[in-house]
Amino acid sequence: MSATPLARLIAGLITEAGPISLTHYMALALGHPRYGYYMTRDPLGTAGDFTTAPEISQMFGELIGLWLADTWLRQDRPAPFVLAELGPGRGTLMSDILRATQSVPGMHQSLEVHFVETSPSLREAQAKAVPQAHWHPSIESLPRRPLFLVANEFFDALPITQYQRTDRGWCEVHVGLAEGATMDEPAFIRVLAPMALPNDDILAPDVRNAPIGAIAEISPPSRAITEEIAHHILERGGAALIIDYGHPKSAAGDTFQALKAHEFVDPFAEPGEADLTAHVDFEALSQAALAGGGVVHGPVEQGDFLKELGIDLRAKTLKAKATPEQAAEIDAAMTRLTDANEMGSLFKVLGITPRGVSLPVGF
Ligand code: SAH
Repeated sequence: MSATPLARLIAGLITEAGPISLTHYMALALGHPRYGYYMTRDPLGTAGDFTTAPEISQMFGELIGLWLADTWLRQDRPAPFVLAELGPGRGTLMSDILRATQSVPGMHQSLEVHFVETSPSLREAQAKAVPQAHWHPSIESLPRRPLFLVANEFFDALPITQYQRTDRGWCEVHVGLAEGATMDEPAFIRVLAPMALPNDDILAPDVRNAPIGAIAEISPPSRAITEEIAHHILERGGAALIIDYGHPKSAAGDTFQALKAHEFVDPFAEPGEADLTAHVDFEALSQAALAGGGVVHGPVEQGDFLKELGIDLRAKTLKAKATPEQAAEIDAAMTRLTDANEMGSLFKVLGITPRGVSLPVGF
């Protein structure tokens, strides 16, 4: 197998300056402006590498739309407001949200759609689905207005930093070149930084005391973005819904993974050609949201959340007008979204609202 252009580039960096951090490796593999995974393709759907909830069924986006409308109504319909999505993929979720909320009095007249997206090819797809959207490279430039925000499978794509516990303490995981590897045939391996973390209080207390050999993960950009969103909501009003696969409590473990054509592959094999992700630490996100001044709801499991919002009823309504084949598809989609053996338990939902507003539905 010939090396990808990005594999050569990374091998060059390592040859010149020594191993790079796993954080740097993940950021390059996903976001390198020319060769990064998200910069060069549409990774979604059956022909791509993975499928997400909004691509499985319109019911997902419709129910999220109702949640957003309900939280907007409970805050006395702030206007004008920003309806934002982080990492909108093909724009499917937002177009379902907009369709489902069309008849909410005053809502569409008050909102402006804003997308945070780095991928040029996905921005194109989003522009077809939601032509009126405004785009941003990061959350910093979102307008300073009440903010109603959703992020589905966005945080799992943000770089993580990994540490391994050794008898010297917690050492950062780096990526180096295997023995005998060349620029033309690079082979990457995990190596450990020689120096241990001088201060391990960036790790959760339970994780810090994990046994020798354990892996710990943190995602500083995920924390920073969540804190910023909570702060924005505290100052201007609004709400956020973060949906992703992950764990409710911080725990030791290696969740760094790569998906290609719906199969798990070696994350070091073809940088830029596979989707690299890590499970989301919802306890860390909750703490970041609290630090930003937000009120945190959940995390709850996606299956419970969607049932609480009425997915059974929505499926029944859709099936009333469906052919038998379509009805079977609706049932299959509902199972995929809510069943504990599918996405129902692994995926979690976290809500953030300002102080002093009534509890949002679903939690
Ligand atoms: N939310 C969509 C797509 C999930 S894939 C869905 O549920 O179908 C991840 C999305 O996040 C893609 O749109 C990707 O281009 C975007 N993305 C990944 N890293 C990003 C970053 N650092 N900044 C902004 N967008 C990013």
